[in-house]
Amino acid sequence: MKKIIQDLSPYIPEKPLNELRDELGLDKLVRLSANENPYGTSQSVKKSVISWAKTSHSNRYPDSAANQLRQLVSEKFDLDPEQLVFGVGLDEVIVMLSRVFLSPGDAEMISVPTFSEYALHAEIEQANIQKIATKKDGRIDFSAMLEAITPETKLIWICNPNNPTGTYETVDEIEKFVSQVPDNVMVLVDEAYIDFVTCEEPISAMQLTKKYSNIVVMRTFSKAYGLANYRVGYAVFSKNVAGDVQKVRLPYNVNSIAQVAAVAAFMDQEFVTKVVEKNALERQKMQNFFDDKAIHYLDSQANFIFFEYPEADKLADYLLHHGYLIRTGLKENWLRMTIGTKEDNAEIRSLIEDY
Ligand SMILES: *Cc1c(COP(=O)(O)O)cnc(C)c1O
Repeated sequence: MKKIIQDLSPYIPEKPLNELRDELGLDKLVRLSANENPYGTSQSVKKSVISWAKTSHSNRYPDSAANQLRQLVSEKFDLDPEQLVFGVGLDEVIVMLSRVFLSPGDAEMISVPTFSEYALHAEIEQANIQKIATKKDGRIDFSAMLEAITPETKLIWICNPNNPTGTYETVDEIEKFVSQVPDNVMVLVDEAYIDFVTCEEPISAMQLTKKYSNIVVMRTFSKAYGLANYRVGYAVFSKNVAGDVQKVRLPYNVNSIAQVAAVAAFMDQEFVTKVVEKNALERQKMQNFFDDKAIHYLDSQANFIFFEYPEADKLADYLLHHGYLIRTGLKENWLRMTIGTKEDNAEIRSLIEDY
């Protein structure tokens, strides 16, 4: 076996919720640790999936190009269909990008703290990780990143809004950064949470893929569209790069049921709009509560809040035993909590009041 694999610390996925609930002897356990959509998914997804199952053939391979979805996405965002590469969630897109752009001894730059999968897959490709701390307010330190670029640097990850800080960078700031990065360094903008941004327009860096060949913008159906279980995500490339990335994609990676579900979810933008509105309202209420309690948090534009608490693991444990699972272990004495439903958020505030 490769030494790198033997030494690797794997990504630790969420435990099945019911298993954990029974282990803890609870009647109800709500997962607010994985940034899933608390409002479910569009009603039309179920209908489309059932109708697919009734009329289609499971013995046939899916459409490798995901053409229907490709057309819809490219039309809505005014892109060339050939700019898109679909993956089994963004997880798989991250694997593809690491495989295409990193050779052993190359370097990948990340802002820390950020999503752990970027570094994990760079390690598998035997690349080195250059870590640049976020600024105190959780935002990305672009000038420190620019200064740290070396001839070995091949990839730079910008998660926007950033997981776990929840903070947002404007398109202008991203463009200013990309325009100063050498052409042979790819800037990867992970927009998994971009739908939740309510602070300004335009919010997406997608259009920059027409102007710069070294920027990639990624989206997922797992968060605002509520399709985490179906595993669909995609990346938008400059046209001359997408074809090379397609070469490493497994030919039938996104199955037909996932494609059908994503098409139905994408056509129901009203569902997404409602989710975003409810999330923004609940996010503000939670931030107001933290203000009242003098709990230090970072200003969020996502569907989660990152906050600091003395002996944070104890608070997380208390909430867990009262039916709420939140994310620990991302930064010492910091916790990341997904914004839940109105009722669950009110319950959490009252639990913290009583703590
Ligand atoms: C959730 C998440 C993803 C992964 O999304 P999938 O499409 O479900 O694989 C990617 N990036 C970030 C920052 C995330 O938080």
